[in-house]
Amino acid sequence: MSLIVQKYGGTSVGTVGRIESVADKVMGWRENGHQVVVVVSAMSGETNRLLELANAIQEQPVPRELDVLLSTGEQVTIALLSMALEKRGCAARSYTGHQVHIRTDSVHNKARIVDIDDARIRKDLEQGRVVVVAGFQGMDEAGNITTLGRGGSDTSAVALAAALKADECQIYTDVDGVYTTDPRVVPEARRLDHITYEEMLEMASLGAKVLQIRSVEFASKYNVPLRVLSSFEDKISGTLISAEDAEMEQALISGIAFNRDEAKVTILGVPDQPGVAHKILGPIADSNIELDMIIQNVAEDATTDFTFTVHRNDYDKSLAIMKETASKLGAREVTGDTKIVKVSIVGVGMRSHAGIASTMFKTLATEGVNIRMISTSEIKISVVVDEKYLELSVRALHEAFGLDQLA
Ligand code: ADP
Ligand code: ASP
Ligand code: MG
Repeated sequence: MSLIVQKYGGTSVGTVGRIESVADKVMGWRENGHQVVVVVSAMSGETNRLLELANAIQEQPVPRELDVLLSTGEQVTIALLSMALEKRGCAARSYTGHQVHIRTDSVHNKARIVDIDDARIRKDLEQGRVVVVAGFQGMDEAGNITTLGRGGSDTSAVALAAALKADECQIYTDVDGVYTTDPRVVPEARRLDHITYEEMLEMASLGAKVLQIRSVEFASKYNVPLRVLSSFEDKISGTLISAEDAEMEQALISGIAFNRDEAKVTILGVPDQPGVAHKILGPIADSNIELDMIIQNVAEDATTDFTFTVHRNDYDKSLAIMKETASKLGAREVTGDTKIVKVSIVGVGMRSHAGIASTMFKTLATEGVNIRMISTSEIKISVVVDEKYLELSVRALHEAFGLDQLA
């Protein structure tokens, strides 16, 4: 008998009919002798609907109250799924995050799980019940409801799997695995049988929203075998995410990710002196804005230009801060652009192969795509391009690196 943690995302529980078919799936696993803990998201669209309600009252809703509101979505689904299981004669109990002691820090709207006391869940499992837990939510030390950031139910599931030492954590969604790139953008994308934690972490960090970044971090840290698979099909292969092993076929590039959420800010003609980077980027960091890519160019007239990218939500604030900094430092001009995207190629094979960057740049050049920024790490290369070139760039790179489905 094994212990499985399953997570069903928004579209997988989007209607009562879908919830009934999730119940059938869970029953199937129970009947095969497995213990099952199920983590569910809110019904699809519900979290956005709640956000809109909050925004209708406050442009920047009070973070604590937003968490109280957003956490209700998942509470609806746990109850409905447990009813559907009970109707089928399968003993089940639903729990909110705080009822099963999912303790988090106090950073509302993007809290981190710090501890889970699994005693209650274990007791139910021993008594033969399916345990249904609300994803995306927890409770801080003072008893406040917290949420884990968009897509956070993935992290709830992996954290529970780690705490319970589950044999596998299965993430059921609306695609049948992790693909070489988002199959909604490139229909030729290919499902991967296997991907390493490291590559998946890069893919998620670079914009592939199929798994929340933190869930992959957790899985890697606690060595939880993680599988992404479709709730709409009966196949159970999907994509296995695990540590690298010598047997694994090593593709040069395993995937292409993209991120539409960034914007760039440039400050031109700053007098170039020691400490200038700190003077420019310090006020951004002090405002809790996360910087992604940073480029500095030095001109011959002893001035320097800085360009950096931030989340689009932080663009207006970053631009305002930069204008203030520019007048303090005597810089010439501040410009910005929100119509950009970041496209990245990812693969552990990059470590041992040269020439990948040049293939990437040549491919984009052939398509007439102008590269605005570049950044590299050991297993990824990212470029910033104009938004209108997103699909063209991803498709061209997908083909150039031989990722298209074999006909
Ligand atoms: P859920 O509601 O089940 O959590 P998400 O919408 O969060 O589902 O994640 C699934 C979606 O992720 C897919 O529908 C797909 O469009 C998108 N996606 C982005 N990149 C990839 C990728 N490389 N492989 C598979 N899906 C991807
Ligand atoms: N319901 C939350 C969201 O839409 C959490 C999740 O689905 O994982 O982001
Ligand atoms: Mg998701």
